[in-house]
Amino acid sequence: MRDYMHLAIAEKDGARSYAAATTHLVEEARLRHNTSPTATVALGRALTAAVLMSGLLKVGQRVALKWEGTGPLGKIIVEADAKGRARGYVGNPDVDLPLIQGEPDVAGAIGGAGLLTVVRDLLLPELAQGVVHLVSSDISGDLAYFLETSDQVPSAVEIGVKLNEDGSVAEAGGILIQPFPPYDPAIIGRLKERLQEMPPIVTLLGGGQKPEAILDEVFTGIQHTLLSKYPVRFECNCSREQTMALLASLGRDEIEEILNNEGQAIINCQFCHEEYTFDRDDLETILAAMAE
Ligand code: ZN
Repeated sequence: MRDYMHLAIAEKDGARSYAAATTHLVEEARLRHNTSPTATVALGRALTAAVLMSGLLKVGQRVALKWEGTGPLGKIIVEADAKGRARGYVGNPDVDLPLIQGEPDVAGAIGGAGLLTVVRDLLLPELAQGVVHLVSSDISGDLAYFLETSDQVPSAVEIGVKLNEDGSVAEAGGILIQPFPPYDPAIIGRLKERLQEMPPIVTLLGGGQKPEAILDEVFTGIQHTLLSKYPVRFECNCSREQTMALLASLGRDEIEEILNNEGQAIINCQFCHEEYTFDRDDLETILAAMAE
């Protein structure tokens, strides 16, 4: 298993925690979107946030997160499902800012003002949506704020993405800690302090620590049980069939125009950059299907 997320619960103290290694997932996103170092860290943190949020879902449910700030990066959109499949993109993947004290300037790239929107498809008639103002524009601070104010669950979040000299991803991962209902904030206060005392998650992962060992460290001195673990990966659910249906939805006139002018249609998936080419035969097949 390359990247995975592990869950642990401290039943007596009333808390659960997810720890995820997302290094390969974030590297896949970097390669697909050809992101600059700043954009890689921002998108990688957002994808890791989506993975952590996917731990709270049930089978078949999905979560989407959108960071929309005033910075040069444009919006960041990420999604994940209960099976740990995540995908996402950033508006301007080539925007790169100088480091600030050796750290990527994610907050500057996202921008100081803006919104974080979280949409959950919980398989109910209506989508569940929550919106908060960006408080730190660094992804993890915004996610923690969302969970505390919109979901009203005090939460500890730490997310990290560390790059190699050549801009590839060295380590990426995250931790999410939440209390069980009735949400006693005291345990989260203690665990937040614990997280602050610990080395950053990317340092732990870089030192060869696995998510389960990181959870053991988070819950040092607290009785806890390591539960399920599942793989997480960058995976888009786009397909040639779906893209063809999208093309067909443009209508007969539009497709005839493409056929007469370009002779082919090339459609690029925003989320994964997969390119689908529909040649003359394909376009004629679509038109023939419409005539039926
Ligand atoms: Zn795709």
